[in-house]
Amino acid sequence: MALTGLDIYKLLPKTNCKVCGFATCLAFAMALAQKRVSLDKCPHVTAQAKASLESASQPPIKLVTIGTGEKRLEIGNETVMYRHEQKFCHPAGIGFVLEDTISENVLGQKLSKINGLSFERVGQTIGVNLVCLKNVSKNKDTFAKLAAKVASSTNLNLALCGEDADTLAEALKICKDRRPLIIWDGNGSVNSFIKLAKENNAPLAITCKTVEEAAELTDKVKQGGVEEIVINLKDKNLSDTIQDFTFIRRAALKKNFRPLGYSLMAFTEAAEPHAELAEAISYVMKYAGLVIIKNTEKEFVFPLLVARQDIYSDPQKPVQVESKIYEIGKVGKESPVLVTTNFSITYFTVAGEVEASKVPSYIVCCDSEGMSVLTAWAAEKFTPEKINETVRRLGVEKLVSHKKLVIPGYVSVMSGKLEEVTGWKISVGPREASGIPNYLRNWR
Ligand code: SF4
Repeated sequence: MALTGLDIYKLLPKTNCKVCGFATCLAFAMALAQKRVSLDKCPHVTAQAKASLESASQPPIKLVTIGTGEKRLEIGNETVMYRHEQKFCHPAGIGFVLEDTISENVLGQKLSKINGLSFERVGQTIGVNLVCLKNVSKNKDTFAKLAAKVASSTNLNLALCGEDADTLAEALKICKDRRPLIIWDGNGSVNSFIKLAKENNAPLAITCKTVEEAAELTDKVKQGGVEEIVINLKDKNLSDTIQDFTFIRRAALKKNFRPLGYSLMAFTEAAEPHAELAEAISYVMKYAGLVIIKNTEKEFVFPLLVARQDIYSDPQKPVQVESKIYEIGKVGKESPVLVTTNFSITYFTVAGEVEASKVPSYIVCCDSEGMSVLTAWAAEKFTPEKINETVRRLGVEKLVSHKKLVIPGYVSVMSGKLEEVTGWKISVGPREASGIPNYLRNWR
């Protein structure tokens, strides 16, 4: 758990000597708690206090990097139990398990489907992260052959799962440079997996049946020289797993219990696609860093990615688009001009409906600090003055031969004032974006 300013203050000399540049030790402690200053600015702190402060400044959940390059997956390093306390930092990875009992041909088809699982939503690209090859055949050659096929067919991150370290070692020779996650499936000896992960500088996931076992094993793995550890809990139902995940997260964040300060992962168990989707979303919300699923169909993967995108967005920073003029379709001098806010979801909803109307139009997005229409209006971020300033700044009058603006129905109350301020004729559009196609078709 991060130390508060008062916790830090108790460890400082309390002489208020000002050498650190702050008027008091308390002011310095507060700045340190907010990470605005480093501890070395105080030359008088004792070695003992320094050790305590440095240990407390370590992330309570270890960051784990799977893969390399731009597509690498970073999980862990979370600092809060609830998103509204600050934000969740590293979006949970979404991976797919493929067993080595399938043919190369089927494997190729599945990989090509998985590679295509990337979508645009509210101006962001959302996609999947990892392919996990599981050794079920118990055959070293088969596993190595399919590992080579996976490595050459996808640039997603990789994971190799099994109970025999020698079998995984053969496959690792092929894809070691990709820094795959090694997953010990809980059978056989963990020692050979620790050795394998250490020799290959790879992160290691350990499969455990209980939280207690996980705490013991992480210590053992760490002593074996592997720092990047992921905990996978097995033989549990969804409810028990969520309960254990919550316990582990709480122990790491609130009690600073180092043996449980690691990322969590889960394989979905449900066979029915809707049940699997619900299970995967539950893990994303509570508190898996990596979720490995079976279903590769777009209609099930997309909602999972949307849920992840929503959970991992910063609640204090609404997703926003640039404040500018957007052209939808082949616009001309006679095209309507719609005014709205720059909240991403608002813009993309309006843009989608304008596109559906087939009436080429301009959308002018005012900078409302990412707030939606009614919220921005209530917060005085979407006012007649602001709209006037935006319309002038963006030179809207040069684009069209008319002087008409369409505003959202929810802010019809500002139409009189807006007309006065801008000198443009104001039309009140529909309240809901779904009314836009019909409205635009009859705009003239
Ligand atoms: Fe306090 Fe250290 Fe700053 Fe002096 S230098 S005021 S002792 S925190």
